[in-house]
Amino acid sequence: MRRALIASILALLITATLHAQCADVTNIVGQLDGARMKQAVEKLVSFGTRHTLSDTTSDTRGIGAARRWIFDELTRVAAASNGHMTVAYQSSMQQAQRTNNVPVEMINVVATIRGTTDPDRIYIATGHYDSMNSDIMNSTLDAPGADDDASGVAVIMDLARVLSQHPLDATVMLVAVQGEEQGLLGSRGLAEEAVAKKWNVEGMITNDIVGGTVGGEGDIDNRTIRIFSANTKGAGDGTSRHWARFVRDGVRLYLPHVKPRLIYRLDRFGRGGDHSSFFERGFPAIRFTQANEDYKREHQTVRTENGVQYGDLPEFVSGDYMRLVASVNAVALVTGACAPAAPKNVKAGGAVTNDTTLSWDMGTDADLAGYEIVVRETTSDEWEKVIPAGKVSRYTFKDFTIDNVFMGVRAVDKDGNRSPVRTPEERLVEPARSAAPPPAK
Ligand SMILES: [Zn+2]
Repeated sequence: MRRALIASILALLITATLHAQCADVTNIVGQLDGARMKQAVEKLVSFGTRHTLSDTTSDTRGIGAARRWIFDELTRVAAASNGHMTVAYQSSMQQAQRTNNVPVEMINVVATIRGTTDPDRIYIATGHYDSMNSDIMNSTLDAPGADDDASGVAVIMDLARVLSQHPLDATVMLVAVQGEEQGLLGSRGLAEEAVAKKWNVEGMITNDIVGGTVGGEGDIDNRTIRIFSANTKGAGDGTSRHWARFVRDGVRLYLPHVKPRLIYRLDRFGRGGDHSSFFERGFPAIRFTQANEDYKREHQTVRTENGVQYGDLPEFVSGDYMRLVASVNAVALVTGACAPAAPKNVKAGGAVTNDTTLSWDMGTDADLAGYEIVVRETTSDEWEKVIPAGKVSRYTFKDFTIDNVFMGVRAVDKDGNRSPVRTPEERLVEPARSAAPPPAK
């Protein structure tokens, strides 16, 4: 009892002293509403099918009706946000085998909560509002898509409701995307716009299949969230991995009851998601998914076979679990958008020398306090050493070789908020050491 008390006091002290915030994370998480998310799932299912090629004119059935409902709900939230949040459609023409090789307009619903001090830096969370049954090209038969992925849409809608009351330093975009099942088409359009408009996206999350707690074998897990992240080819640490670890560290601090399971893959084996559209274009992008999946639910036409229920129905989606996933999103988005910008243009020098130098561009955040160098063994998943470097843009370790470790740098603001880590991508230009000796006279 006494030990537990001391532990909780210590935890409070650590939270208060090491991680001051531009917003109250605990308060924000406390406002998320699982029952409301469950209602949103039921409403989305009520449109019968949300297949990308389904009817767009009906007010009660098909993807058009679902899209307008999402837009109207978010617009109501925006109206109560004191101008912090705006809602818009973002669309692109996309063509794939699963659109019968004809261009189809992919329309995403985008809620944007503009950052207060650094609005050009963006964090994005998505869920996809389209659905499918057993036949990917069948656009008329029911396709409830409760877990896949009304759950992800419900999560981003409730995040919009809560975060629109708490604008952060950087901008947060919450997006319901179309066309995931037809080949990640809506997210492709959004990511293409991000590239064309040179958006500075520091972190992107797709929420896909985030409502179920029971696996195919009846195994129950309502505490674990899987966080998928891939590495860029050849690099020791890509930005998506840094983003995944950043999220894990925030969860450890603010949500001790949640088990963040990092998985170092772009996605589940042989499968894909909307974060791929961003990852492939060089943005830090990760996927959130429930602990276990039940394949009797996903992509199944609703039916009973030998007494077994098939279909992605709302009764198999948990409001409490969606609330857990929304909480992880909130921690990621708030700690990311409160932190200073991640260091840019990080370079290292250290080949064939016993000294190691890191350099980066000095950030422009008004509340920037300085930088920390982080170091770990190449086989370790945890940063093992943290070295305060001060407010500098270059740091040299004497008699320390870069060969045997991974190193990175992160920015720290005056409240103690830390940015995601960036590792050097390029070598510093170093003086030639093995230049040929001058020719003998
Ligand atoms: Zn999905």
